[in-house]
Amino acid sequence: MVSAPAVQATVDHSALAHNVRLLIQASAPAKVIAVLKANAYGHGAVPVARTVLAAGAAQIGVATLDEAFELRAGGIEAPIIAWLHAFDPSEAVAVFAEAVALGIELGVSTSTQLRAVAEAAMRADEPAVVAVKVDTGLNRGGFAREDWRKAFADLANAEAAGAVRVRAVFSHLANADRPEYRTNAEQASGLRDAVALARKAGLSPQLVHLANSPAVLTRPRALVDGVPAFNATRPGVAVYGLSPIAGRDFGLIPAMTLTARVGLVKRIQAGDGVSYGHDFVAPTDTTLALLPIGYADGLPRSLAGKFEVVIGGRRYPGVGRVCMDQVLVDLGPGRPRVREGDIATLFGSGKDGEQTVDDWAKAAGTINYEIVTQIRGRVRLQHINV
Ligand SMILES: *Cc1c(COP(=O)(O)O)cnc(C)c1O
Repeated sequence: MVSAPAVQATVDHSALAHNVRLLIQASAPAKVIAVLKANAYGHGAVPVARTVLAAGAAQIGVATLDEAFELRAGGIEAPIIAWLHAFDPSEAVAVFAEAVALGIELGVSTSTQLRAVAEAAMRADEPAVVAVKVDTGLNRGGFAREDWRKAFADLANAEAAGAVRVRAVFSHLANADRPEYRTNAEQASGLRDAVALARKAGLSPQLVHLANSPAVLTRPRALVDGVPAFNATRPGVAVYGLSPIAGRDFGLIPAMTLTARVGLVKRIQAGDGVSYGHDFVAPTDTTLALLPIGYADGLPRSLAGKFEVVIGGRRYPGVGRVCMDQVLVDLGPGRPRVREGDIATLFGSGKDGEQTVDDWAKAAGTINYEIVTQIRGRVRLQHINV
């Protein structure tokens, strides 16, 4: 028998739908490609896909083909693009052929990938739908500027041979969370150059996209000016209601709430040390509650002494080390109102006084992206308002 979950991440699909609608408005007239990589940033790829598509997203973006295959296996028939490929060379053609057969759009970043994709298309006996990734200054994925001309010529040949259909040209920003930073305009102009070269080579991409969440939501001048040429956006983190720029509120609603059931309540005396290393020593007689969540579940060990939970409408501090499976909170010296089996909220939207993913990120010295993608282990995903 599977028991009711002791630790649960509740994903509110009405919040996801709200965020997608907000991103559609902010992107218009460009279409939204909702980014669902890394299991939809920890929120559960297949159910999230259904909701973002119902809310009006035009396409889904993921990093790897395995992520795209999981969505297809889960019954998602909408357009999907996958842009990060690294295979044993002997397997590349077979994997791309499966992707072509499943109608998955392939982001292509190297000429080796292009050759394998073209061969895969021959094998699958239908053209591969390709999005050309160009590096405009992030210096990560994508064809380097010096290789653009050759890449577009090769793609035009492959298209003429019926092996590929170039649907999109895209790039990714290095400093989108600093809207007025000069490289954003430089990268937008670089992408315009790439599109012009692609057209000169005889390609006619339908879609051109550059903007991730911070670019969509801040729409700096360079990207707004680019809108007629850039007709899709690729927001990820904002879909989940998390601000892509720390401290800025864009009207998003965080979709994930993390809760744990109190496993034990016990009194301790002033001077007693708590958990490994006795890092916390009770200053007064007090009561502790044990929560069955630890760093193996995505509660960062670095949050020891730096987080609070809400139980029954009140906030209580975490005390002592964050262990692999459990952590303690201090209920204070008074008569405890908390009982075994009560629900503690670790983070959520903040509307009931609980901490947010952003609070955790700040305390742990990281970004909200890392907090939600680390939720794992024994945490059960529960989908509500689907
Ligand atoms: C992850 C990713 C995105 C989404 O970025 P957010 O900052 O989460 O909006 C968009 N494009 C590419 C290429 C990505 O890797």
